[in-house]
Amino acid sequence: MGLAEYKRKRNFRKTPEPAGKVAPSQGELHFVVQKHAASRLHYDFRLELDGVLKSWAVPKGPSLDPSVKALAVEVEDHPLDYAGFEGVIPKGQYGGGTVMVWDRGEWAPDGDAAAALKKGHLKCAVNCEKLSGEWSLVRMARRQSDKNNWLLIKSKDDAARSKREYDVTVEEATSVITQRTLEEIAADADRVWTSNP
Ligand code: MN
Repeated sequence: MGLAEYKRKRNFRKTPEPAGKVAPSQGELHFVVQKHAASRLHYDFRLELDGVLKSWAVPKGPSLDPSVKALAVEVEDHPLDYAGFEGVIPKGQYGGGTVMVWDRGEWAPDGDAAAALKKGHLKCAVNCEKLSGEWSLVRMARRQSDKNNWLLIKSKDDAARSKREYDVTVEEATSVITQRTLEEIAADADRVWTSNP
């Protein structure tokens, strides 16, 4: 996909988001989840692949409960340096609202990730602060109109938790890089946080 759609949707004179470029990194593949209070609150689940961040918007957020199949809508690829973006996208701009770096770390695919994404079933192992463990992304793809709809599902492993006992999106409400809440990030709107991935 590349970054053409990402750039087309944004005016970089008006948004503090990184313009970015396709930049394959060395070593581990980056993983980030951003909590994004846009017109609707959602969590953006992003996996580095081929120099960009493959991205899914998860309206209800990820769950550590393997019985939960969370809708994950595939969105445009984002630049790698987006993984360090936390701040406020101005009102009226694409995705206007507050962005928090909610979780961050590395991930590894089970086999050939590009082929798995094409097939619509990606298994991955994530090493981070809140969502460590194994996950699956499964494309629904029943109709052409739903072709961007995937399900994000926690595998049954040691990190799995029943949602009744532990709801990770309720228990974990702050940024992994600044420990701020969404409200605190919004209050610091003029202070855009950027850090290299
Ligand atoms: Mn978003």
